[in-house]
Amino acid sequence: MKKENASPKEMNPAGGSASNAEKKENSRLLRRLMLVGAAAALVFASVAGTIFYLSKTGKLDKVKAHFSSSSSSSRGLGERSASGKKGEFYISSKDESSNKGGKVGIKNQPVAEKDDDDDEPFINPYALGEDFDIDDLKDIGLLDDNDDPDFYDPEDFNDPDTEAPKKTPKDKGGKKGSDYSLPDDQGNYDLTGYTIILDPGHGGRDTGCVFPFDAPQYNECDFTLRIAKRIKSQLEARGATVYMTRTDNSWVSLYNRIAQTHLICLDIAEKEGKLPFSKARANELRTLLQTSIDINEDTVASGGMSIMVGSGVGEDLNDLFEMEYKLDKVLFLSVHLNSSENRTLHGNSIFYVTDESVIESERRQRRENSEFQRSDFPIRDEYYGRHGEDNELLACCLYDNIVGNIPEFETNATPVKADNYAVLREHGLTGCLIETAFLSDDNDRAMLQQDETVDSIAVSVSDSVKMYFIQKGI
Ligand SMILES: [Zn+2]
Repeated sequence: MKKENASPKEMNPAGGSASNAEKKENSRLLRRLMLVGAAAALVFASVAGTIFYLSKTGKLDKVKAHFSSSSSSSRGLGERSASGKKGEFYISSKDESSNKGGKVGIKNQPVAEKDDDDDEPFINPYALGEDFDIDDLKDIGLLDDNDDPDFYDPEDFNDPDTEAPKKTPKDKGGKKGSDYSLPDDQGNYDLTGYTIILDPGHGGRDTGCVFPFDAPQYNECDFTLRIAKRIKSQLEARGATVYMTRTDNSWVSLYNRIAQTHLICLDIAEKEGKLPFSKARANELRTLLQTSIDINEDTVASGGMSIMVGSGVGEDLNDLFEMEYKLDKVLFLSVHLNSSENRTLHGNSIFYVTDESVIESERRQRRENSEFQRSDFPIRDEYYGRHGEDNELLACCLYDNIVGNIPEFETNATPVKADNYAVLREHGLTGCLIETAFLSDDNDRAMLQQDETVDSIAVSVSDSVKMYFIQKGI
């Protein structure tokens, strides 16, 4: 509130010929009235100001949706807060009892034994979303019609409105060994037919963030490679096809990583008969993309950006985007660690791109980034069409599952946010950048060094991938 608006002292109280006592009483009354008036004005101004701000920033609809309890179809993805532990998209394949709570000490923390009896998955039906129906689990093959799901005992969830699932006849043909069976291994979370491109951040001359800041002992690039390798094993164990943009501690430029991604997508699209252009055109694009891999540098001057140079999307990139938008069983995940000079920040954050987040960032950079002013840096904004909502859904799945399985990684920073990252911006795949935890936080760093944590991250990311595909129905 601005100071200029508040000057009640200068207001002239009512005059007249009343007695001193009356005058005193009158002025006391007047003061009270003025106080009440001022308070009411303050409340009104706050409410009006808030509504004005929300409508100005486009958040009013989200607030309306939030308070409209009947809007069960709205996922409310934008309503993420730091309290998102075990959120809507949590689908743990881990036995919850294997999660050791509490902070991890830096010294002599014993690594918990791996629980080999984790085969029986724990599924929290309420984590599957508001529209959860027990048949949904059967539809997606997580549950056999013959199975008596003991996890679905309403008593367990203290919800008097919840009805136990009715035994239904085998109307879906479900029996052991069929599509609806619940195998003894982790086949419940089967990812056969899905492809994940893993991008371990940094490497080689680019260490990523370091700790301690002045005398680096830990490098982000080592953690990201180790985590990504573990994620790869976990995804492959569930039947997924996995590619990695780097497999050792070597320098790989950003545009090299994206070029690799496009090349993988060209191969998949060609194999699946989904090329939206001729094979000759595909080979032409392959040659252009190979330039990025060969040059392996990120500057405009180096030529390493190839067809990805400039703002917006050029013709060549546009063709690739159109192809990649159709590859709905392929995801891109970049693995990073966060770091901040603010040593109180900790936990997991997931970033993704939307058209809006890219456009906003590029418009700003046109003014501030000298690369954007070069003559060999094309400025275009004529084409967009990224699958922002899918990216956001994947981000929520990742955050919910990572924090659901590793409660210590619930963040006090930003859980889920749209921003502008080259590795996500320059291709058309649904994807996210995972800031696994803060290297600058003592507890996060201690946990990241433990095999048990890395295993949990790998399981959580794999669960997230499965949850994303369940939500998408593909
Ligand atoms: Zn990084």
